[in-house]
Parts: sequence; C-alpha cells; structure tokens
Amino acid sequence: MSTSATPAVAAPATAAPPVLEISSLSVDYGVGDGAVRALHDVDLTLRRGEVLGLAGESGSGKSTLAYAVTRLLSPPGVITGGDVRYHPREGGPVDVLAMTPRELRAFRWQEISIVFQGAMNSLNPVHTVRTQLTDVLRAHRPGMSRAARTARAEELLALVGISADRLGAYPHQLSGGMRQRVMIAMALALEPEIVVMDEPTTALDVVMQRQILRQLVRLREELGFSVVFITHDISLLIEFSDRIAIMYGGRIVEQAGAADIYRDPRHPYSDGLLHSFPALRGPRRELTGIPGSPPDLRAMPPGCAFHPRCPKAFDPCDRRTPHLAPADSDTGRSVACWLNDDRRPGEE
Ligand code: ATP
Ligand code: SF4
Ligand code: MG
Repeated sequence: MSTSATPAVAAPATAAPPVLEISSLSVDYGVGDGAVRALHDVDLTLRRGEVLGLAGESGSGKSTLAYAVTRLLSPPGVITGGDVRYHPREGGPVDVLAMTPRELRAFRWQEISIVFQGAMNSLNPVHTVRTQLTDVLRAHRPGMSRAARTARAEELLALVGISADRLGAYPHQLSGGMRQRVMIAMALALEPEIVVMDEPTTALDVVMQRQILRQLVRLREELGFSVVFITHDISLLIEFSDRIAIMYGGRIVEQAGAADIYRDPRHPYSDGLLHSFPALRGPRRELTGIPGSPPDLRAMPPGCAFHPRCPKAFDPCDRRTPHLAPADSDTGRSVACWLNDDRRPGEE
C-alpha cells in the first residue's frame, strides 16, 4: 500500500441506519442514438453520521452521481432509472426522484447540501460573505430577524474557523482556503442531514486540505450529519472516510469499510488506484499505477469495462458484465468482479 493514510475516524457505519438509499440509479447524457450512459445501476447506501468516500478516475461518474441524487442534473443529463430514498429523522422514507420543484427547494440546503467541484470560485464576487451567508438564511428561514441572521452567519464562520470580522469581506479579499471554508459554512447553514462534497479541497495545498477536512470531521461528530466525500486523492479518502465506494465507467465496482479496502482491496481496479498514490508517511510500497486510460463512454468495452486494463482478466471478463455482489457478509463489503463472485458467468 502506497498511501500515507490510516483511517482517522472510527467507522460507526454498519450499525447506523440509512439516511440515503440509492438503488439501480442510471443516468444518460443525451437521448436516442446519441445517448451515452454515465451511470449504470448504481446501488449505494449512506448511513447516518458516516463519511462515505467516493473515488475513481476522471469521468467515472462521481459528479454525475452527486448531481443526480440532489436532483441538480441539468440537460443533457437524464435519470433513466432507479430510485433514491431519503430517510428523515422522523417519518417514513421520501422518494427524492418524485419530489415536486417546491419540495425540492425545501429538500436542498435544509436536508441535503452540496459543495460543488471548484466551489471556491463559485462565490458571487460582487457580494460580501455576510450577504451570501444571510441570503441562504433569508430564503429558507423567512421568520428570522436581520440581527439573528447576522448572528447565525458569525456562528457559521466560527464553525469553520474564520473570525467574524471577515463577514464584510468580498471573495477576492479571502484566500482560497478561506473561500472554501465559507462554502462549507454555507452548506452547513441550515444544519442539513447530508453534505455532499465534490472535490472540496482539490485546488488547495495539502496542509490546508487536511486542516479543512479535519474541521469537517469534527463538525460531523458535533452536529451528526453524514458526508459524501468525492476526491481524487486516495490518501485523503482513506484518512477521512468511514466507508469507501470505488467507481469505474459509471458503476460502483467495490464498496467496503475504509480500513478493509486499505488493507485488502479486492477489485483489481481498487488495487490499482491504491497503488497510484505516493506515501507521505508510513511504509513505502511500490507504485504501479494503472496502465491505459479510462473507458470512452461512447465505446464501452463489452463485459467488465475494466478488462482491457486488468492484469487479472480471464476467460469470462470480456464477455460478461460482473454485478456488485456481497463479498464478505461480516464487513458488508461488495465487489463487482468475476474473481470475487461465486456465481460463475452463465449462472447469473
Ligand atoms: P472528474 O473526476 O473529472 O470530476 P467525474 O467522475 O466527476 O470526473 P462526471 O463529471 O460525472 O465524472 O462525468 C462522467 C461522464 O459523463 C464523463 O464521461 C463525462 O464526459 C460525461 N459527461 C459529464 N457531463 C456531461 C455533459 N453535460 N454532457 C455529456 N457528457 C457528460
Ligand atoms: Fe478484472 Fe475480470 Fe475482475 Fe473485471 S471481472 S476486474 S476484468 S478479473
Ligand atoms: Mg467530478
């Protein structure tokens, strides 16, 4: 293993009830003959209070999944099948894909918020931090007084380690790390149950990335929300996630506890990803990387999409697609690979 990280957070995962259940979710870009499938039958459960890490090379469908479950996918993206269920603290599950625009407005920010990829550049340059934070509160808490909104904005900045005197600052007067913290503060403004963070710290230096993520994990422990954490950085992923899902070509190919996947990746692609990152500390391991490039959605290889790059490919792999199946009932691990599937191709 070449990563530096050992999981920093104890995994409450398996015992906690689900807060978001994604079943057989599929997304296409475009319609008819020109359509390409970016997500295939994704099954994934986010548990209450956990950090679920999502990794995979560029184009594997991580952002598409984040947009689809928050219903922020815009044309030409189309959800072509599946189910997304949100479990509120009280009451029965809610069908996210059936929500009306009005229900969605209440759902976003209040129940689920998203920090977008490249978010530190998405603050409005002509408004102060105060205006941007209080706007979210004004829209969703119409009864809140102006003084209460400002007090809450100060509290939110303090949560992410920024002093209240920066409320009057414009985005260009803040460092990249501070802008990113402001985005996280906005995402936490209404105390949502789920925070989706799509590459939240990619543009920052390593020290700043860890500092922000440590703060987020601490807040998660204090406030009890769940996090979907999307990143290219496997060390960060292992350090800050309770569970990890690995994506390839629009499918989840392995899903397991962070410590389990770190010690013993079962899917050859997970193994390749874990051997693609240099160690910052801890024992060195050989960096082998993954030969070849991610698949082109317009010309997906038949069978297992990873087979042209897989060092372990064998007879059925270029003909039959393996599906995510339980690989270890004790830990809840699941893997989509014929090597790990007791059902041999043809017995599906
Ligand atoms: P990255 O790590 O680069 O952010 P990602 O895993 O988030 O990648 P997505 O952005 O979800 O990947 O893209 C998944 C696939 O869908 C890619 O092949 C991409 O080219 C395709 N795609 C994304 N957005 C569109 C779009 N608007 N129109 C057509 N194809 C798209
Ligand atoms: Fe490799 Fe075959 Fe497993 Fe795909 S199914 S990852 S090609 S061994
Ligand atoms: Mg992305």
